Amino acid sequence: YTGKTGSELLTEKIKKYKVFEYQSVPIVVQESASVYDAISTMFLEDVGTLFIVDDNSCLTGVVSRKDLLRAAIGKQDLSALPVHIIMTRMPNITVCMKDDLLFDVAKHLINKQIDGLPVVKETSKGLEVVGRVTKTTITKVFVELISDNHI
Ligand code: ADP
Repeated sequence: YTGKTGSELLTEKIKKYKVFEYQSVPIVVQESASVYDAISTMFLEDVGTLFIVDDNSCLTGVVSRKDLLRAAIGKQDLSALPVHIIMTRMPNITVCMKDDLLFDVAKHLINKQIDGLPVVKETSKGLEVVGRVTKTTITKVFVELISDNHI
């Protein structure tokens, strides 16, 4: 018997959840793609956030549903408008790495009021996008934590 309280055990358990165990597949779009294509990809892939990459597949930006809505209510021709014009761009992108704690990612989602983060890997050319963690990821962990509750 360790003498630890239920709350200490729960904290220990939560701090074992790492990004790589729960990350999902990232949906990426080239920065030269049009806003029209980005909207199509968002529907086809059923995601709320797209990661924008350059020719080396390295992260240059993020596009959310509202970014696309904002562009869509403008007067522009969406198939002639490159997605890099409307994206939130580096270095203002919050990212995470595979060995980060899911708890730290959850704090970023709350503090920055965003829906997801790209999981990246450092390469000589920049940050390669290898996964994604979203509010859905955190919700799944929350449910799992309570479903196989051994405390
Ligand atoms: P929505 O805008 O559809 O509600 P978000 O809350 O995720 O979706 O996005 C809010 C704003 O933050 C958008 O302009 C988006 O481009 C930007 N954003 C989304 N994810 C990130 C991120 N990981 N790092 C920085 N900015 C982000």
